[in-house]
Amino acid sequence: MKTAVEIYKLLPKTNCGTCGTATCFGFAAKVASGLASITSCANLNDQAREELMAGEGNRKNSPGTVYEQALEILRPRLASLDFQKLAQQSGAVSSAPDTLELLFLNDRFTVTKERIADQQGKEPRPFISILIYNHLTMPDPPRPAGEWITFSSVPASHAKDKAWAGHVEQEIASHFSGNVNGLKKACERLGGTPASIKGSHDAAYEFRFFPHYPVLLLFYDAVPDEDFPAQCKLLLDKHVDRFLDIESIVVLGEEFAGRLTTQ
Ligand code: SF4
Repeated sequence: MKTAVEIYKLLPKTNCGTCGTATCFGFAAKVASGLASITSCANLNDQAREELMAGEGNRKNSPGTVYEQALEILRPRLASLDFQKLAQQSGAVSSAPDTLELLFLNDRFTVTKERIADQQGKEPRPFISILIYNHLTMPDPPRPAGEWITFSSVPASHAKDKAWAGHVEQEIASHFSGNVNGLKKACERLGGTPASIKGSHDAAYEFRFFPHYPVLLLFYDAVPDEDFPAQCKLLLDKHVDRFLDIESIVVLGEEFAGRLTTQ
């Protein structure tokens, strides 16, 4: 059976969403774990369809879900790293030998060479673990540049622009349209701090998705008289592609938008 990455390589990568999943990678992950059928993507070329359909036939022989497969690769990769160095690079706190205390989206996790656990000692949802592993195993991440860029300026982001605009920024903008105070409260509950940024926005909040992964949210409320809809911009640090791969950046953005709008 093919892995999510192998399936993804054969997909159109347009993130059109007509299969019912926001991104092609999300769809690939569902197919790989048996949660969706490749037939739900109507945009495949004949060669890709044939190859992927053959893969679906072999699914029953596959051990574990795509998440389990990914975690089996990522755990030993993290375990091979120097945790003291990791603490310095990531901004995590080294609380004991080979143990890190790491903030992720305002939640605290304990990371050891064997597992990741929340404050109740439970493992987080698998895709949260994967995001944490992906972040910690990025090679030689620099410190944040302190310069904000839009998502479309991140290298290799082109195919994900629609997903970011629709499932991250627009999701936040439409949810809080006409409710700046509600947005401010939600930002503060999620650990955001008001940012002093000049501009015409109605709210500006800075977040740390990880200690060294800053994000700036700018919100412009709707002006009905001028037919101006609410808008949100989620700006990223110039070095963000050294903190996470592009697919993980989108998944993390979607998770953030989901938490902000469902509190
Ligand atoms: S239908 Fe789904 S998998 Fe196919 S191109 Fe659109 S988003 Fe990607």
